[in-house]
Amino acid sequence: MKFGGTSVGRPERMHHIAGLVTNSSEPTIVVLSALSGTTNALVEIGDLMAKGDRNGAKQSIDKLEAHYQDFISQLVKKPEILDKAKAIVNEHFEFLNIILRISFSEALSKDILAQGELLSTKLFCSYLEEQGIDHLLLPALEFMTIDTYDEPQIGSIKVKLTQLLDKNKKKKLFVTQGYICRNARGEVDNLKRGGSDYSASLIAAAINASVCEIWTDIDGMHNNDPRIVKKTVPVEQMSFDEAAELAYFGAKILHPASIWPAQQYNIPVKLLNTMQPEAKGTTITAEAGSVGVKAVAAKDNITAIRIKSSRMLLAYGFLRKIFEVFEKYRTPIDMITTSEVAVSITIDNTMHLPEILKELEPFGTVEKDDDQTIISVVGNQIGLTEDMIKKLFGSIMNIPVRMVSYGGSPHNISLLVPASYKTQILQQLNKGMFGLE
Ligand code: ASP
Ligand code: MG
Repeated sequence: MKFGGTSVGRPERMHHIAGLVTNSSEPTIVVLSALSGTTNALVEIGDLMAKGDRNGAKQSIDKLEAHYQDFISQLVKKPEILDKAKAIVNEHFEFLNIILRISFSEALSKDILAQGELLSTKLFCSYLEEQGIDHLLLPALEFMTIDTYDEPQIGSIKVKLTQLLDKNKKKKLFVTQGYICRNARGEVDNLKRGGSDYSASLIAAAINASVCEIWTDIDGMHNNDPRIVKKTVPVEQMSFDEAAELAYFGAKILHPASIWPAQQYNIPVKLLNTMQPEAKGTTITAEAGSVGVKAVAAKDNITAIRIKSSRMLLAYGFLRKIFEVFEKYRTPIDMITTSEVAVSITIDNTMHLPEILKELEPFGTVEKDDDQTIISVVGNQIGLTEDMIKKLFGSIMNIPVRMVSYGGSPHNISLLVPASYKTQILQQLNKGMFGLE
């Protein structure tokens, strides 16, 4: 059971999830994110230290510490437990204050980021202790590891975690940190922002769990972006493939990488709502359930690049040369469409864009469009759905579509549109494809 930042972000929420985790009939591993807002604050503290702004960093540390002091005063009541909670908060903020005084490094910034999950899990355990709920804290840094390419080492995670669990066979409730891990150099590292979902899925795969539950503040994956479109409905059932497309192409509820471990080890994933635990949520399994379109999602900050060349006509090897440029700069390509004399691709990581554009120049005329949005229409065998294409394009006739990609998988049609049309297109698709207004 993984709980995100908002599910642990207030003392009363932590009280509430203690009820949820003790409800289960099976032994349970609870994976926690940092309290909401904490990782952002730690990123800021790291940035200020990196810039050499120690006063600014100190102010941010003090502000965050005050937040935690206030938090624990409402989390636990028994004096001896409150003393323990205070000692936990003091220990971690002392650590931040020590870092402040030594010279800053990349490795230290990872140590700073790890404090959020270390605090949330320890404080949750204090509350469990106060309630007399038997449990054990499993330090993620003892089993969660990544290799030199920052890829999780599922084999070794499995071995180490199994050893830890075998040593504590009598326990029924375990608590561990999401997000944090050790890298190939043995240093504290993390699975990138939002990575607690990934931790949960890796853990579920490693122990062959009966289910991986991701608890958030919404009742599952919705058919459209609820922050943008008024009327959206949760999707009850979808396949790993569909969920992967949606998570990758913008549905914020799930970290995209968290699908593969569950899929590979065939662990059902459930997306559930902490505030409404009885709601069905979304179940993700190998089977897709019904045929047809299930959801649309939008991914922002996309740059499109078009390479036009008459040399592409009847040539082979052209795409390889182009792709090699992106490979060289480790820049993933999201969408691709081709015509006989031109190819358009999209990227979202523009860190090496100037170099990429320069190296593409010899291949033809290169044009780029910034500030685009990928709209992804996802479902099961959507091409087989009668009227799908008509409904899709019929509902967005007034929108200038820059690219269309279909056929890569039977689960998705992606459209590229200027970002300024995002809200409009999501609303029109909601009406046109789902009949929701
Ligand atoms: N606390 C980390 C973050 O905010 C990881 C997570 O919440 O999944 O990115
Ligand atoms: Mg999250």
